[in-house]
Amino acid sequence: MLVGPSDKNRALDVLKAFGIEVVELSDEREAVRRLESESFDFVAVKRFPLSDSLAAALALRPSAKVVDLSSLQSGVLMDDSPGFSRLAAVVESSPIAIAVVSPSDFRIEIANALFVELGRCFGSVAVPEIKGLSMSAAFPEMVPVLDEVRREMRPRLDEAVELVCPTEVAVFKRIVTPVLNPSGDLDCIAILFLDVTQHLRAAKEIEALAKMIARRSARLDSILGSMTDALWLYDENGEVIDVNQSALTMFGLGSKQEAIRHRDFAEFQLRDREEKPLPLSRLPQTLALQGKAVPDYVAIGRHLITGKDLDLSIAAGPVHGEEGIAGAVLVIRDITALKELDRKKDEFLSVASHELRTPLTTIKGYTQLLTQSGEQTSLADRSLFLNAALGEIDRMMRLISELLDVSRIETNRFQLHRQPLEWIAFLEKLTSAFRVQYPDRKIEFISHVAEITIQLDGDRMRQVVDNLLANAIKYSKEGSAIRVEAMVDGSTVRTSVSDKGIGIPRDEIPFLFERFRRARNVSSRHYGGLGLGLYISKAIVEAHSGDISIASEEGEGSTFVITLPLEPKIGNV
Ligand code: ADP
Repeated sequence: MLVGPSDKNRALDVLKAFGIEVVELSDEREAVRRLESESFDFVAVKRFPLSDSLAAALALRPSAKVVDLSSLQSGVLMDDSPGFSRLAAVVESSPIAIAVVSPSDFRIEIANALFVELGRCFGSVAVPEIKGLSMSAAFPEMVPVLDEVRREMRPRLDEAVELVCPTEVAVFKRIVTPVLNPSGDLDCIAILFLDVTQHLRAAKEIEALAKMIARRSARLDSILGSMTDALWLYDENGEVIDVNQSALTMFGLGSKQEAIRHRDFAEFQLRDREEKPLPLSRLPQTLALQGKAVPDYVAIGRHLITGKDLDLSIAAGPVHGEEGIAGAVLVIRDITALKELDRKKDEFLSVASHELRTPLTTIKGYTQLLTQSGEQTSLADRSLFLNAALGEIDRMMRLISELLDVSRIETNRFQLHRQPLEWIAFLEKLTSAFRVQYPDRKIEFISHVAEITIQLDGDRMRQVVDNLLANAIKYSKEGSAIRVEAMVDGSTVRTSVSDKGIGIPRDEIPFLFERFRRARNVSSRHYGGLGLGLYISKAIVEAHSGDISIASEEGEGSTFVITLPLEPKIGNV
């Protein structure tokens, strides 16, 4: 809006207070220049008739309507010239509630439709009386604010003023600004109310939505983080967007950035079950990006740090977006341990069948011999054959009992029947029995204590000592010495069984108490066994609140130590 020099400054000040750009010009030449270079909605001039040059400039701007400021009497909105009528209409229909009050008694001089409505809803007066009223009557709560603006002579902005009426609560942004006259005195005060209720409600909804999304994303992050399966997310171009922690640990990657660099898995050396390398075109993520779902693909990969092979089960699927395939998700499970278990199961089955078949073959041989030879076999030979067959039957029964014990331990059906037992006499008896059975072995028993009585399950403890002695004999050369030693150590009794046999590779010692565990220096052909004796022995000793341990050097020999608590004890030491 272009305005020539005018004494109706107050009107112009009010326009400025409403944020309408007002250009005041001191001379006509400047007005002509601006008209030629800029465009305006309307032009307000004080003097009529127009000078020729201004009229010519205006003729070139048909869109600009001319407003005669000299016709203004008392206030900008009273003007009935076309431009001001338009302006008045704009102010009147503005989405902002606007009012102008006098500085002395805060009387409402101008109020647009929305302000009148505001007064009706939230103020203390009814329509249409608001114009001409004092703010202290219409909006008493505004008076302190107006006082402040009048005192400070500075605009005041309140971001969220809450207005309450019986039917609603609304929030407004409020601007109260002083309007000064050319001499710098307060001419009037303009008040603007902008309804931000919807805006705030939307902002609150967005905030709640953002919080919900953040919560969901945190939950998702923690789920993905705690997953043992590795997760790889790809975008539609095959770039890695995200991976979880398991993906990093599975392949020995240091960071997500490193994972991003390994998008094509080249260094993981993926191979199929026949050990044939998987080219990029056959990788599950490539197929998924082409829209194909890859369910459980078994492959072999390599750990970057240890260089060890990993058995992997890989599943992949496309992620569908609004415009087709937006990416792919790849889930990798490390099944190395499962495969190892599978291998062990197969090995166990083959060892178990072999172990059970060997005595059966012997029994069958002796029985056939007895049937075929008939009367010719001497009584001495018959008894020899039958004893041999019985020995093999015992061996089979032992194996089957071991298997049953394992199942009892696993299902917590393992029970003890404790009775007072003279431990030294018990050990003496067992070693003597072995001496009789293996006359060519030197089996020593040394006790550092006269006798000690402990509450034990005798049958079960016999199983433990028998197993240790049988192992000592099985895993050492004929003629080499075996020593059983008992001593009291504080509140426990320590019993050791030592041999000078093949010993145990150091790295395997911690695992020998596990089911079906056999050390690598024990070939099943030479040394029969299922790898269950130590597992069962440990369960029995621990059920007695005791402990069993191994000290061994490969090629030197082994010592197995059982430690049992003396309490509850009966008898003398
Ligand atoms: P098994 O003797 O039937 O294999 P055990 O559970 O009694 O089963 O023993 C597990 C493994 O521990 C054996 O296979 C063997 O490798 C090792 N082991 C046990 N006792 C000895 C020993 N005295 N000397 C050397 N190795 C032994």
